[in-house]
Amino acid sequence: METTSNPIGVLLLRPLSPYLQQELSKRYALFKFWESPPNLRREFLGEHSNSIKAVVCNGVQGADAEIIDALPLLEIVASHSSGLDKIDLDRCRERGIRVTYTPDALTDEVADMAILLILATSRRICAADQHVRSAEWKNADFKLTSKFSGKSVGIIGLGRIGSAIAKRAEAFGCRIGYHSRSLKPNSRYKYYPSLTDLASDSQIIVVSCALTRETHHIVNRGVMDALGRDGIIINIARGSHIDQAELISALAEGRLGGAGLDVLEHEPEVPDLLAQLDNVVLSPHAGASTYETRKTLADLVVGHLEAHFSNKPLLNAVI
Ligand code: NAP
Repeated sequence: METTSNPIGVLLLRPLSPYLQQELSKRYALFKFWESPPNLRREFLGEHSNSIKAVVCNGVQGADAEIIDALPLLEIVASHSSGLDKIDLDRCRERGIRVTYTPDALTDEVADMAILLILATSRRICAADQHVRSAEWKNADFKLTSKFSGKSVGIIGLGRIGSAIAKRAEAFGCRIGYHSRSLKPNSRYKYYPSLTDLASDSQIIVVSCALTRETHHIVNRGVMDALGRDGIIINIARGSHIDQAELISALAEGRLGGAGLDVLEHEPEVPDLLAQLDNVVLSPHAGASTYETRKTLADLVVGHLEAHFSNKPLLNAVI
């Protein structure tokens, strides 16, 4: 723990960045949750509960009911992420705890990652790299791959990130369709009220919606079958949007062409079967992990806490 004369305690759940830790410890008493052994976390929270008024979390580890309930003085949860699915929002509402997040600041990076995964999956760039490094190139030409330019791309969730992906895919000459809960009147892309219809009409599906009870396993076997044996699924949102067991079966049995996944259902666990598939490209939930964005997100989080503790209006407040 690092302390200053300021009595406000801030609980940081994950390391995130040295810069964020430095900026928080300049202003608050900083408690680093990951430094306490997992079997002693309840005691750790109990020991510091008379000081902690803020929790800083991200899209991988959020303020769940256990953490919230252990902190009676908690006033604000500041997320270093645009996804809110790991925060118990109902509990925060009940307790009157403010919640902030960081949309927009990471949109470009995550959209870039989606395009990167589309290209890497369709052009099999990881296998191609191995082909060169292993000197297999001397023995055989690399196999043919699939073109991305001009493909039809179906986007699930035309929000900030989904729209940025659509814009990039348009530059590749792709036809864009989307599925969400409602038609976007200002969008020129075709709206599909049925996700299965979107999948039937697309060669590539990109998941970019929020994870909620309704979107858990939104990509199920029916959607995979509709996309078909040459289809590619990209997920830069949350692992639980896809029924991962069905995805692995579809990829292994050749009922689906490929998948590019920045997120997994039980990350950081990676099923052996998935890791062995050569039609899959995997990334460790790194869509927003760039130097540039980490600094911006850290400044936003610190700004949210400063505004809250000096009774100023909160930007990006969900509650
Ligand atoms: P956003 O602007 O709020 O967009 C979310 C979209 O989800 C909305 O367009 C919404 O459309 C759609 N949606 C919600 N419920 C739906 C449903 N039942 N069926 C279909 N669509 C639904 O959020 P964003 O900033 O684009 O971020 C999207 C997600 O990306 C985040 O929630 C987060 O999980 C993920 N993310 C991942 C990374 C990473 O590192 N890989 C980084 C940042 C964010 P409607 O309201 O029209 O339904």
